[in-house]
Amino acid sequence: MPELSSHFRQVTPYVPGIQPAPSPDLIKLNTNENPYPPSPAVKEALSRTSAERLRLYPSPEAEPLGETIGAHFGLSSSQIFTGNGSDEVLALAFLAFFADGKPVYFPDVTYSFYEVWADLFSIPFEKKRLGDDLRMVASDYAGAPGGIVFPNPNAPTGICEPLSFIEEILTANRDVCVIVDEAYIDFGGKSAISLIGKYDNLLVVQTFSKSRSLAGMRIGFAAGAKGLIERLKDVKYSFNSYTMSRVSIDVGCAAVKDHAYFEETREKIIHTRERMERALAALEFEFPQSQANFLFVRHPRIDAAVLYGALLEKKIYVRHFDAERTRDYLRITVGTDEETDVLLKFLTEYLKGR
Ligand code: PMP
Repeated sequence: MPELSSHFRQVTPYVPGIQPAPSPDLIKLNTNENPYPPSPAVKEALSRTSAERLRLYPSPEAEPLGETIGAHFGLSSSQIFTGNGSDEVLALAFLAFFADGKPVYFPDVTYSFYEVWADLFSIPFEKKRLGDDLRMVASDYAGAPGGIVFPNPNAPTGICEPLSFIEEILTANRDVCVIVDEAYIDFGGKSAISLIGKYDNLLVVQTFSKSRSLAGMRIGFAAGAKGLIERLKDVKYSFNSYTMSRVSIDVGCAAVKDHAYFEETREKIIHTRERMERALAALEFEFPQSQANFLFVRHPRIDAAVLYGALLEKKIYVRHFDAERTRDYLRITVGTDEETDVLLKFLTEYLKGR
């Protein structure tokens, strides 16, 4: 009799950052969450949620969230697709747009989930090497046979490319879908959502997990031409009609409508990032200029894995990716000013005499 497990799918799953139990002396800078709470409007929306309503299924279209996000960007709800975190939106987009057996291109140093989805769905791929400056080379992506996906800003480098770069890739790939993953765009970059009217093959994916402080609620969305969104919906309805709960729809709408709070918190994070950059440069750390809520840093004299361990001992959680191109670096999320002070104080002490 064949072994039972020979019938099972074998995949190497994505490894998310550690989620330790919260504790007052712990500093969590390892999964690029927002250090500030969600908008007060979110709290209000939660308090208005009645348990009675949970008896009923939510809107399969996740309305009015699509309409609210669309209105925010000057688009119609037919150009918006929402999902249970942008990971789900991206996974469904891989299934919808990259599944015809032709190789998809993405950078060699990037969000490691892309390779996992490609493997899961048997999508061939080619990784395009970042330049020595850790930047993507636009010409490497011309004529991608099966499509393209990359984050902008890239993760874990934090480097953001301008819209002219995105347009160069789009014009060299008119016949395939180009997915721009903008998980970190609100921390300084320019969104490619403004290009959707011009390129019907562009899908821009964003998340509420970072700039809107809602990682725990799981809300992500894609913006694109109506034709792309319809294809995505067909895939979703072939999988799970109700990916967004009633609570996440309500909370998502409240978060989008509070512009003032969104601006206030993202500016605080950008300000802290700039302060952190100056202090880390003074300690001789090297890093590319980040437009995200994290820095990708290395030190000429310190082994990153050793420093990771030393930080962990002090309950300061950062991320170390132990792969050929990334093992010299640590990715450090921008926290509050107080958390940054503790981090910098530790690093200053640690580096003394080394
Ligand atoms: N894209 C990138 C580049 C990310 O770093 C993340 C966060 N891990 C995601 C997408 C997914 O975020 P979420 O599922 O929380 O929306």
